[in-house]
Amino acid sequence: MKSTGQAFRPRSVRPPAFAAVAAWLPAILAAFALLAIASTTANAQYQRQVDVVPSAEDIGDEYVTPLVQRPLPRADWWNAVDVAALVVGLALSSWLVLKKRSRAGSLLLTIACLLYFGFYRQGCVCPIGAIQNVAVSLTDSSYTIPVVVTVFFFLPLLTAFFFGRAFCGGVCPLGAIQELVLIRDVQVPRKLDKWLGLLKYVYLVVAVILAIRPAADREFIICRFDPFVGFFRMTGSGWVLMFGGALLIIGTVVGRPYCRYLCPYGGLLAPAARFSWRGVSITPSQELDCGLCVEACPYGAIEKLRAVKSSCLYCARCYAACPNEPVNHPAPTTTDTETPPETSTQP
Ligand code: SF4
Ligand code: SF4
Repeated sequence: MKSTGQAFRPRSVRPPAFAAVAAWLPAILAAFALLAIASTTANAQYQRQVDVVPSAEDIGDEYVTPLVQRPLPRADWWNAVDVAALVVGLALSSWLVLKKRSRAGSLLLTIACLLYFGFYRQGCVCPIGAIQNVAVSLTDSSYTIPVVVTVFFFLPLLTAFFFGRAFCGGVCPLGAIQELVLIRDVQVPRKLDKWLGLLKYVYLVVAVILAIRPAADREFIICRFDPFVGFFRMTGSGWVLMFGGALLIIGTVVGRPYCRYLCPYGGLLAPAARFSWRGVSITPSQELDCGLCVEACPYGAIEKLRAVKSSCLYCARCYAACPNEPVNHPAPTTTDTETPPETSTQP
């Protein structure tokens, strides 16, 4: 019998795009309904209630309430650029990690987004702080938020339903600054990791409760205690900068401590990503059981040699560490495959 010379290799079964979209249709509709509610006053002029909060007494640390009570909204075209950058960033992060499986590409995107969203746009607008704006706009009809804030809040979440935490992987500047300081990770014991991971949900609930109080008592603690925005703006109160600095120092040996244990937006992305259509798949059909990927993952996101969708931060290190990963086996060049010339044994 003639052999084809090709070994049978099982192919991973993926749901067709149509079926996946249909399965997530209720979630998509719910997201757009929330989007519509939050944007009911999209065309109204942006009013920041600085006459109520924040005030000098609320913030302290020599904060002076600005004289201008209604800061001019940013030019529309800047908002459009920010939204376009977010869309491109999310698409690139998903493509680089899920399709190209490229650690180098993901790292480049991380650096680019840190420069743009972090140092250039100075950490604003960001979905983490937007949690509070969206919560208030849903509970107080007199509070309006710009469309760009609404989009920044919902789009990474919507992406997480389809492609996992692509926002955390290459787009979020807070994640990026921690990603870049990691030198050598110490694996946090799994039980401790899980317990500490609950803190972000507590922080999320407390932040929302404090944000939706009556206007006079309202507190936006996520912005107030943002540990890294001070670095992006080269300013900020001393103790918040020290808090951020401490997190970065810890982050040299513990992968992304703020993301894993404190980020309230992570508390929304994690459950969304748990049910995502696609996620990081470590060598789906050729498992080695060597555990190299587990060692390579600085975020404790691999269990039983599989990436856990809710905690995988899309860094692509596991691909880079895997000997079975096709990207680690460049195609042989013609020179490599050339048959060596036969040495004549004839006299
Ligand atoms: S967990 Fe939070 S801070 Fe970390 S990358 Fe994701 S959104 Fe950003
Ligand atoms: S499983 Fe770990 S190493 Fe792999 S992409 Fe996710 S966070 Fe990175």
